[in-house]
Amino acid sequence: MSEHALRPSPISPTVDFSAEGVQHGFLRLPYSRDDSAWGSVMIPLTVVKNGEGPTALLTGGNHGDEYEGPIALFDLARTLKAQDVTGRVIIVPAMNYPAFLAGTRTSPIDRGNMNRSFPGAPDGSVTQKIADYFQRTLLPLADIVLDYHSGGRTLDFLPFCAAHVLPDKAQEAKAFELVRAFGAPWSMKMLEIDAVGMYDTAAEDMGKIFITTELGGGGTATAKSAAIARRGVANVLKAAGILKGALETAQTIWLDMPDGNCFSFAEDGGLIEPVFDLGDDVKSGDLVARIYPIGRTGAQPLEVKAKMDGILTARHFPGLVKSGDCVSVLAAVVV
Ligand SMILES: [Zn+2]
Repeated sequence: MSEHALRPSPISPTVDFSAEGVQHGFLRLPYSRDDSAWGSVMIPLTVVKNGEGPTALLTGGNHGDEYEGPIALFDLARTLKAQDVTGRVIIVPAMNYPAFLAGTRTSPIDRGNMNRSFPGAPDGSVTQKIADYFQRTLLPLADIVLDYHSGGRTLDFLPFCAAHVLPDKAQEAKAFELVRAFGAPWSMKMLEIDAVGMYDTAAEDMGKIFITTELGGGGTATAKSAAIARRGVANVLKAAGILKGALETAQTIWLDMPDGNCFSFAEDGGLIEPVFDLGDDVKSGDLVARIYPIGRTGAQPLEVKAKMDGILTARHFPGLVKSGDCVSVLAAVVV
């Protein structure tokens, strides 16, 4: 479908993106339902603008059970002052707001996974309508885009900031500069299992400088991961020239997910025993996890083996695992 065939977005912002100063408001999306006949989904956002300069679009809660982004961005939204900004900062702490309210990865309204819903549709489901608004209204306003993720309820990650390998090498280099500026303990050259429908891909296809994170997981945040998130966004805004001041630099270790061998998936369900913890060194062929059948005693556990040398970068979080779940992710240290 061509762009001009699309109807206008049903979302109306309560802020003016071109106005100077600090505005706290909402993206209002009409959503008529049993408990609210002419009701709306009210997605909180803040816009801070001061003069000419680049625009940063900052998002958390793309998945509703990931908390470092919302923590850093609700905090930034309440503290950022117009006089400290050169350009514009658009802050949406919880992009898939219905999912964030429910504490679930996907939306309870339509089961929509925001990061598989792009480019979205103005006449689609609630999640598709939000995606469409980002695709056609917010992303075009942005020069740089930071989208926070963590492992959610089912994965746990080493805290890293990441960008993708891109066909446009100048765009790629700028993204990795911002990853370095973010200053997470680990920095990743990231490979996606399937990049179709991702916000990342939508932003990158428009030529935006896009970076993302995985800062922990398990459906919560820690003092450490929240601090990394908060420091990271300040560093990125300084590196982009939107905030003044020196970067709060930190040591980072560069990691690379070279190919699909970095992922291991469960081929049966059961009780999972991790053999390594996050950050441990793993060699190709090493046992990464045992999965015990739980229907009876006396059965042999299924062994999950590493398919490359690397650092254990992510692991399945809940104690029980299902067939097809991602068990582990390895990444190679870049020296
Ligand atoms: Zn996520």
